[in-house]
Amino acid sequence: MPEPGQSITGTCKSCGRYGVVYEPPGIPADAQASTAAFLQWLKEAIADRVGRFGEPLFVGYRAEADVALLGWHQPVEIVRTTGRWRAPEAAQECRECGSRGGPYPCRTLRMVAAPYRFDFPGHRREWLP
Ligand SMILES: [Zn+2]
Repeated sequence: MPEPGQSITGTCKSCGRYGVVYEPPGIPADAQASTAAFLQWLKEAIADRVGRFGEPLFVGYRAEADVALLGWHQPVEIVRTTGRWRAPEAAQECRECGSRGGPYPCRTLRMVAAPYRFDFPGHRREWLP
């Protein structure tokens, strides 16, 4: 097996075909950190909102829906190619939206998160829908 980011010519262990074997490098650390920060921030923002005394029932139901959306729209790691002669790369995308959702967090989760930014600090500009 080649080192991540290096290609060698050989036979595939899975299919037995001869060709270029390539182990894509992992997800960049900054992308992993950004995803972790977003998920943590959204969980804390939802919990903060629900934990306030005297909120209307709507807030609790809205938060319940947002927690469900957060569960459905978790990140998955994929390997993709961006051109015929370009090396494959590892990336994160939404399990529910796939590549249609854009880079993780997907559009749906960015929209879920957007209203919480008005009363919970730490939201980042790149998380806007
Ligand atoms: Zn999604």
